Amino acid sequence: MTTRFVNGTFPDGSAVDLHARGGAFTSDAGDTATEIDLGGRLVLPALGEPHAHLDKSMLADRFPNPTGDLLGAIEVMRMGWTTIGEDDVIDRATRTVERLVASGTTLIRSHADTNIYAGLKAVRSLLAVRDAVEPLCDLEVVAMAYPLTGPDGPEGRRILDRAIELGADVIGGAPHLEDDPGSAIDHLLNLAVETRLHVDLHVDEVLDPAYNTLSDLSEAVIRHGLEGTVNASHCVSHGLKPEEEQREIAAALAHADISVVALPRTNLYLQARDRFQAPPRATLGMETMTAAGVTVGGGADNCQDPFCSIGRCDPLETASLLVAVCHRTPDEAFEMVTNEIRTIASRPLLDFRPGSPADFVAIDASSIRAAIADQPAGRTVVHRGRVVASTTVDTWIGSR
Ligand SMILES: [Zn+2]
Repeated sequence: MTTRFVNGTFPDGSAVDLHARGGAFTSDAGDTATEIDLGGRLVLPALGEPHAHLDKSMLADRFPNPTGDLLGAIEVMRMGWTTIGEDDVIDRATRTVERLVASGTTLIRSHADTNIYAGLKAVRSLLAVRDAVEPLCDLEVVAMAYPLTGPDGPEGRRILDRAIELGADVIGGAPHLEDDPGSAIDHLLNLAVETRLHVDLHVDEVLDPAYNTLSDLSEAVIRHGLEGTVNASHCVSHGLKPEEEQREIAAALAHADISVVALPRTNLYLQARDRFQAPPRATLGMETMTAAGVTVGGGADNCQDPFCSIGRCDPLETASLLVAVCHRTPDEAFEMVTNEIRTIASRPLLDFRPGSPADFVAIDASSIRAAIADQPAGRTVVHRGRVVASTTVDTWIGSR
């Protein structure tokens, strides 16, 4: 049976009725079982979150970050994992997913700590959440494995193998933190060749421009024949390099078909706390990446945890930062929190054509720019043709 969505508005101002059947849009009305009134709201492709850490979300008050920087957050979480149980992870992650869904997010990629401190607790919990929230959104779990080299390397590699056996969707890591980054990259990409899973790495989340894991990664991805399946997140050091070097690195990424994800919220929060004069924006070189044709997504990274105590579970907040910090136009920034993310995850694009997934958000805004500026709470969220969240806001203003 067909669901009919009436009284929506496209960004060009035209009125729109949509029909969905079997999770996708269809051109004919067929036998309409349900009619949903969108109340004139602006109809946009559903949002995506390409880089969450659901296992750590909502821990900001329990584990405050003593220094406010990246190392302080990593240290506090190492101790934190000794007291966190799987029910705890499942409860917080589920609540965070619900907040993301309410904001219009129907595709989430979340990293899960996969290391000697968390063991398999985070992966196992997020896989349970993935299956439980499947009617609401698509959730991909990245086994973020570190370290894979050095004294704890053998145990780290064993935990990663086990996480993949349990059903992790994507292979993750942080090679720039490794004793031997080149070996770690080779190990991760060898696993990707064996398992045919995508790879999503934390890369060069440092302000030191000497870091250049992206070039090593580009070379290794081509050597392993993994073009189009690897994503690099953060890439902070890239934005601190001279323009010519940025362009060379971006061209190599484009050649290897490696996508990148910018994470302005957490990078602004964590980085440059010791730089009093002209602190950098701490994001990848956006202009050179896009000019080279690299697929660029935008993410939030952390939601109210020791890495960022004020993340808000709304990709429109990320889009706002992509406009202000990375100087994208509102339309460009919006693509980076919608279809660019679907390209990164090799998912069909959302274009409202017959056959396209019926995933969209209808929002109380007059344009994409206004939606990013106001980030209105009033939204109707549809995943696979079914309403999965709806928020209405009533505002009262006194008489003058
Ligand atoms: Zn991250």
